[in-house]
Amino acid sequence: MAMIQRPKGTADVVPAQAYKWHTVEKLASETAEQFGFKEIRVPTFEETGLFLRSVGETTDVVQKEMYTVTATGDSEFTLRPEGTAGVMRAVIENGILNDGFPQKLYYILSCFRHENVQKGRLREFHQFGCEMVGTADPKADADVIALAKNLMDRVGLKNIELNINSIGCPTCRAKYQQALRDYFGARREELCDTCKERLEKNPMRLLDCKSPICKEIGKDAPLIIDYLCDECNDHFEKLKKNLSLMNIDFVVNPRIVRGLDYYTRTVFEFISKDIGAQGTVCAGGRYDGLIGELCGKQVPALGFGMGLERLILTMESQNCDFMEAKTCDLYIASMGEAASERAMAMTMELRDEGFFVEYDLVGRGIKPQMKYADKIGSKFVLVLGDNELETGEAKLKNMASGEQVAVKLDNSFTDTFSNALMAEMFKDLDEELAELGRK
Ligand code: ATP
Ligand code: MG
Repeated sequence: MAMIQRPKGTADVVPAQAYKWHTVEKLASETAEQFGFKEIRVPTFEETGLFLRSVGETTDVVQKEMYTVTATGDSEFTLRPEGTAGVMRAVIENGILNDGFPQKLYYILSCFRHENVQKGRLREFHQFGCEMVGTADPKADADVIALAKNLMDRVGLKNIELNINSIGCPTCRAKYQQALRDYFGARREELCDTCKERLEKNPMRLLDCKSPICKEIGKDAPLIIDYLCDECNDHFEKLKKNLSLMNIDFVVNPRIVRGLDYYTRTVFEFISKDIGAQGTVCAGGRYDGLIGELCGKQVPALGFGMGLERLILTMESQNCDFMEAKTCDLYIASMGEAASERAMAMTMELRDEGFFVEYDLVGRGIKPQMKYADKIGSKFVLVLGDNELETGEAKLKNMASGEQVAVKLDNSFTDTFSNALMAEMFKDLDEELAELGRK
């Protein structure tokens, strides 16, 4: 039979891999909360116009990558290609702009882009994003960068290079764009068709073009950094000073322009050399014009998006630690109908007490039950049969040591089991400490 397979550029996270996602999601939200960011959740799709207005009509994302959907008689919607636009729409719509500044928000969500699928480049991918609203102070830029850096340190990443640049404000950009038009205009015929179009509308996009010939021509293009106005230059100098005060290493990379239209002044990327061409793990910047563009109220803001697939790929390539999945505390094996019912009742009670307990759900014999308990890594096994029910006593087996102790099957069982579990956990801890001592 022909099986239906998952769409190209999407991925399944199977149970054996899910702990990696739990690790990065947990550490990401913990880091964000420590920096004072609160979670926001927004819809998976938005009116298409939101992305046209915010991401920008001359970007790859809008021109080539959007998944746009319609339902009969409804307006046109687009699956979010990124998080910022929807989050800013929600900030405006829910009156969060009136709640005092800065507002600090974070999210973990899926994004959809119709891209050429490659390693680290998917059609559905996930971002951890942070946005800070209501401050133009360069301290905020450094603080947001510090958050991303803190998370990357926390997950154990090494060799990540922070690249920063300033792409100025509309004032300095006007002069710069003319310089770019002059430069690229001289070789107009050689540019790709998309770039020919961009030359008039948004020449900065040419610097982001992935076609080899445009890249080659772009090598000697004028740099925005040489065109910054005094205010933008001052902002950039202060950002650099703040990063140095925070002991965060960076390089100024005047070639970063970012793919989205709404950025102003600071742009940055954290780049890994360990996962090939798609090495940008995190990218962000300041977008002082976006909220004004959406609602007419001028409110400066900034943020970043971190690609979680790329983060996990980099962690894997560097053998970083992931949080282990929890394993079963106790498996209650049973023989015979009465014992099986007792196993079920005990399991429910122990689960109510907060223990991780399993019992036979297949109707297998005692031997395959023991095998199963071993396979799932249960710390203890309790064996119940008619005999045990009669005497009110059973054997509790420690699966790591093989040691068995007799336990009473009355009200005292929970305490007895809890103590045995504690002793086992402390033994593990002692071994870990001894191991550390040897190192
Ligand atoms: P690129 O230049 O790699 O296409 P971009 O400029 O389109 O990146 P952003 O829109 O800034 O990327 O998205 C922020 C982050 O999200 C990226 O740095 C990356 O980690 C991740 N990301 C973007 N597109 C994809 C994708 N198609 N698959 C997986 N991760 C992605
Ligand atoms: Mg892209």
